[in-house]
Amino acid sequence: MIIVTSHDNIIIGLEIHVQLTKLKTKLFCSCSSKYRGAEPNTYVCPICIGLPGSLPVLNEKAVEFAMKLAIALGCKINKSMYFFRKNYFYPDLPKGFQITQYNKAGGKAFGDGGKVIIKKKSGKKEILLNRIHIEEDPGRLVHKGSIVSSPYTLVDYNRSGVCLIEIVTEPVINSPEEAREFLNQLKSIIQYCGIADLDLEGSVRVDANISIKGHARSEIKNINSFKEVQRALKWEIRRQKNFIKRNKLLKQETRHWDDSRRVTVGLRSKEFEKDYRYFPEQDLVPIELKKSYIEKIKNYLPEMPNARMKRFQNQYGLSEFDSEILVMDKDIADFYEEAVNSEKDFESKEYKLLCNWLKGDISRWLNLQNKKITDTDLTPIQVVNLVKLIEEGRITGKIAKSVIGDMMLGTPIKKILKQQGKKRIADEEKLSSICKKVIQENSEIIKDYKTNPRALEALIGKCMKETHGQADPKITRKLLLEYIEK
Ligand code: ZN
Ligand code: MN
Repeated sequence: MIIVTSHDNIIIGLEIHVQLTKLKTKLFCSCSSKYRGAEPNTYVCPICIGLPGSLPVLNEKAVEFAMKLAIALGCKINKSMYFFRKNYFYPDLPKGFQITQYNKAGGKAFGDGGKVIIKKKSGKKEILLNRIHIEEDPGRLVHKGSIVSSPYTLVDYNRSGVCLIEIVTEPVINSPEEAREFLNQLKSIIQYCGIADLDLEGSVRVDANISIKGHARSEIKNINSFKEVQRALKWEIRRQKNFIKRNKLLKQETRHWDDSRRVTVGLRSKEFEKDYRYFPEQDLVPIELKKSYIEKIKNYLPEMPNARMKRFQNQYGLSEFDSEILVMDKDIADFYEEAVNSEKDFESKEYKLLCNWLKGDISRWLNLQNKKITDTDLTPIQVVNLVKLIEEGRITGKIAKSVIGDMMLGTPIKKILKQQGKKRIADEEKLSSICKKVIQENSEIIKDYKTNPRALEALIGKCMKETHGQADPKITRKLLLEYIEK
């Protein structure tokens, strides 16, 4: 018998908690939400630490931000809704309940449905969403070292009451890779909405529900990064499959992803919804959204990555692949457009060249330094100048590569070249003598060349070394061939 293991029997649903880090204040009080790096328990007030008698007031901007995301994701926005209390006891939750939204018992989420399109090798796939809703963040528990070995637990309420949006997918994700791709796309959409910076530490937390078809599911709580989500899912799938193989019964439970040991561990058998005793929050008035208000927000929304990708293909003649990479990070895409729009007489070749530098050497440098393009002193004009110098044959690609680092730190390319005395050597006489020297000194490579024409590249490399990368590669190649054939 052949057992076909298909990805289709893996069922994953995600719940993503996103902090609206671009909000100045918390969800129900006027405390600052920029708590990162602050002294513990200094950004608090009676409302966000739940003192008796304090009354929450809804942050209007939070509604606007949620609306932006709901529109961008294509959710159906509910025009009238109210908040609920979700009751549970935990030290990070001083009120003993979390103010959230609920889509049962007469309640409505902020938006229902919606989708995110992801790309797969086999084509496109729509990841359907169940809903998105607004809720408050609990405080933060701080441990010394690991949670298991720490002699005590500290609590910091600076985070308590910060606005979260929870995005709940349908259980339609079939592999850890799909989950990762979905999260990347979602991150990009959130960046375009201008409501959160998900690169900030702790700004995103994911709960992953996962099961093998026909078996009990487990929920992995509080995974801190997209990379860890993929890892945790991979590990949990293996655990569940091993259980099934050994005919052991999986139970429905909540698990914790230990990212230092890279395993999931059982926490508790999963609580049921009724344990939360949801009921309407009486201290807040219902939200009523006018159609005109929704229309207004819609008009403010910038072009979303998918639409922008199509426009990049039409307007700049880029391939689908290239434009997709460019638009994924809004800052990079904005940079690109500023660069190409700074020159009136750009040709399609230059559109492509600029794209190549951004997605290639510049992105590589940013990744290596763990920086965003907006954190650097590189300007679009500088990259345009670089491309022009190459196009005009005044510097080689090799030289261009060698000066990128200095350019990222803000030094204009022309200044760098002047300092380093780097210019392309195109003078045939000068190159001739270098080529002859290299040929004389490398008889082994010449021998090799007779059976292996690719050995020529090694010779070009030697010429580059002689000239510190300044030899024009085309002329060098031509001259080398001339002399070898002789
Ligand atoms: Zn407060
Ligand atoms: Mn939640």
